[in-house]
Amino acid sequence: MKCIGLIGGMSWESSCEYYRIVNETVKDRLGGLHSAKIIMVSVDFAEIEILQHEGRWDETARILIAAAQSVERGGGDFVVICTNTMHKVAEDVQEQIQIPLLHIADATADRIKSQGLSKVGLLGTKFTMEECFYKDRLIERHGLEIVIPTESERDNVHRVIYDELCLGEIKGDSKECYVQIMDRLVEEGAEGIILGCTEISLLVCQGDSPVPLFDTTRIHAEAAVEYALGS
Ligand code: GLU
Repeated sequence: MKCIGLIGGMSWESSCEYYRIVNETVKDRLGGLHSAKIIMVSVDFAEIEILQHEGRWDETARILIAAAQSVERGGGDFVVICTNTMHKVAEDVQEQIQIPLLHIADATADRIKSQGLSKVGLLGTKFTMEECFYKDRLIERHGLEIVIPTESERDNVHRVIYDELCLGEIKGDSKECYVQIMDRLVEEGAEGIILGCTEISLLVCQGDSPVPLFDTTRIHAEAAVEYALGS
């Protein structure tokens, strides 16, 4: 079994889910007392969040590169960045380490294509929904068609992530807001919806949507186990 290198803390609410899902999946696959070999480096999200919103992505890259290099020195066989948004600097990180980085958008696209879907909605931070680092990878590398929420919907989705979910606050009216946005994306032709922020699955679940939901936290964690087990 390879040692999984998790870079977490963004936020720790979702990093807990990664840790749990990775271990549950190893237990399901290998049985008994088996658990995942993991090295985890967890950053202070308050520092990252400020840099993100001030557009200081070079500085966020430096923090994640240092984290990834710690993972590598500590014996991690590959790197998993436990957030969609911070994949904005994934290429900078990959350039500074020798071990591979398992990209969250690739794992998610593979799962979507395996279900025969091609047009999907995308929920996430405004960085993820609006900028090209994530959408273009899904479109150009994987041939998917992406539907994103309207500007005011994007504002709401983003606000709920930073002001509530990353603080561990789960609110009924925010869930209702997300459900309405998902329904509208389906009206626009989305055959499935990417929960493209690793905290969204704390708020909504498959029962809230008429189309398949692609929970990037679970998909990425399961892909890490598949890679670790060499399958
Ligand atoms: N965990 C979130 C994501 O998947 C948002 C926090 C962050 O900005 O990293 O994008």
